[in-house]
Amino acid sequence: MSDRIRAIEAGADDILSAGMDGRELSVRLQHLLRRRDQLRQMETQYRSALSAATSDGLTGLFNHAYFKRFLALEVKRSLRQGHPTALALMDIDDFKSCNDSLGHLAGDRILVEFGLLLRQSIREIDLAARYGGEEFGLVLPYTEAGGAKVVAERLRSRVEAHPFLQGGSPKRVTVSIGLAVCPADASSAEELIRRSDQMLYRAKREGKNRVCPS
Ligand code: GH3
Ligand code: MG
Ligand code: MG
Repeated sequence: MSDRIRAIEAGADDILSAGMDGRELSVRLQHLLRRRDQLRQMETQYRSALSAATSDGLTGLFNHAYFKRFLALEVKRSLRQGHPTALALMDIDDFKSCNDSLGHLAGDRILVEFGLLLRQSIREIDLAARYGGEEFGLVLPYTEAGGAKVVAERLRSRVEAHPFLQGGSPKRVTVSIGLAVCPADASSAEELIRRSDQMLYRAKREGKNRVCPS
């Protein structure tokens, strides 16, 4: 095999002949640099399209679709490998009254701050998502009921203590959280969501600003 073929197989873009004049070399280099810039631009566009498809535009957390897909895979893995996966569904308490008294823009800022607190309260392998509106989901792989309660209670008390909308007149916000664990409480992602949702509604019924089961 010729050296030229071997060089192309090894990834060479071009082969220059010895004695090529300086102007041709310069034009070829400029062409290569333009191609590099185009590829970089395409990569950036691809990354931002991917991020837009999987994340929530307001909070930057993962979106509902990505949450469902991640949970379904995690539950399957959990059942096959025999480790627990916990799900926390949460809903900000009396959020309608925040909007009614402060306006929707302030409400949006509260959601963004809530997202930040949520992200700060979890491990790297956990997944935090905006489920919709003022509802959020947290998937905790390799986590039993006891561990999930610790995480949820820590988040609940952080939210309660956090002065939202600092700079103006800080606002206190609370959250209710429902927990369920696979495989102890459910053997599918749908069942896990249903069970966490039931627990969330129990937390609301029992007075809000609490984790159920406690
Ligand atoms: P509860 O304690 O029972 O959860 O009461 P709540 O007021 O939080 O619940 P409700 O379901 O009555 O109201 C939810 C509110 O969330 C109403 C809606 O305007 C607000 N909301 C949903 N999505 C957004 C959003 O993206 N931005 C803002 N600012 N508000 C939102
Ligand atoms: Mg709600
Ligand atoms: Mg609510």
